[in-house]
Amino acid sequence: MFDRAVLHLDLDAFFASVEQLRHPELRGKPVLIGGKSSRAVVASCSYEARRFGIHSAMPMRTALQRCPDAIVLRGDMETYSKYSRIVTEIIEEEAPLFEKASIDEFYVDLTGMDRFVGCWKWAVELRRRIMKETGLPLSQALAVNKLVAKVGAGQAKPNGERLIEAGTERQFLAPLSVRKLPGVGRVTCERLCLMGVRQVGTLAQMPPRLLEQRFGKHGKALWRKANGIDDTPVQPWHERKSISTERTFHEDTTDMQWLRDRLTEMVTRLAWELRKKQKLTANIAVKIRYSDFQTFSRQRKIPYTAHDRTLIRHAHDLFEQLYQRRQLVRLIGLRFGDLVHGRYQPDLFDDTAEEVHLLERMDHIRARFGPDAIRLASTLPRKKDVLP
Ligand SMILES: [Mg+2]
Repeated sequence: MFDRAVLHLDLDAFFASVEQLRHPELRGKPVLIGGKSSRAVVASCSYEARRFGIHSAMPMRTALQRCPDAIVLRGDMETYSKYSRIVTEIIEEEAPLFEKASIDEFYVDLTGMDRFVGCWKWAVELRRRIMKETGLPLSQALAVNKLVAKVGAGQAKPNGERLIEAGTERQFLAPLSVRKLPGVGRVTCERLCLMGVRQVGTLAQMPPRLLEQRFGKHGKALWRKANGIDDTPVQPWHERKSISTERTFHEDTTDMQWLRDRLTEMVTRLAWELRKKQKLTANIAVKIRYSDFQTFSRQRKIPYTAHDRTLIRHAHDLFEQLYQRRQLVRLIGLRFGDLVHGRYQPDLFDDTAEEVHLLERMDHIRARFGPDAIRLASTLPRKKDVLP
């Protein structure tokens, strides 16, 4: 069988590392990134903080109980996005085919590149270049597929690298805790534990039929993971994922306020789609088609976000820049591009607690009653029907 070669790169404690890079006085200290409200969670923490048993997604309050001296910083997504882009550009320059899986994680498909050893040398040099040009720590692993490479990079942390040679996947995974397998959360872990399964090696030797009985359709997937089997492809970055929407109006119009309101409505709906899919966007585009069918569009790069208020502001800016002709408008289009996986973490930013709460409540209502169940007052229909 022809072996694939997949490299996984993962920046270590990304947000915290960027802060330590920018502020040398923070180096060697426990740093937590996240909000200060009672509901805030840790979005990222430095390795110094991890020594106190702190990890990301832990309530900020618990983290501060464990380490009262920790320095808490609000996130600065603009800066993190900038560093994420620098790393992406380096990989883009060097790699034949790569996927940006999240703001700080990448896969590179090196299949066909001069056997495994050649790939490893290439990978070592790529990592060295990223560290030299950004000053950020990162870990990586090379393996025959995405799954094993990802687990490998996790094992190489902090700031390390690991080669898992073809044919040694099962051996590599066997001694690890089942918790190390991607997608195996606390609940699955506890259930496996009750069956006496703690290590991946034990799981790998279970009959797949038994796992299917216990875990339904996830059972087979569990067994495949434990055996280091994964054939998901590296999704090329040039197929940058995006989501978009457009509206053609029944009646062409020059009513600016009305058009702005429609745009707000479109942003609100599409941003909700983003959050539902756990995606963030770093590129927004607005399109206008006039009654004579001339079409213009404009786009801009933005810090990774899925937040209504931020996206509405950018959309309106772009619309102002575009709408120059004072002619009847027939259609408006909106696109969010450069999507990556990531949960919008409002507490990272300068949102007030009330606003965050409001956004969460609105999403909750949409999840129950549909996307149009709740809207900003300004976007309620007044006149001119809108075609879907
Ligand atoms: Mg990371």
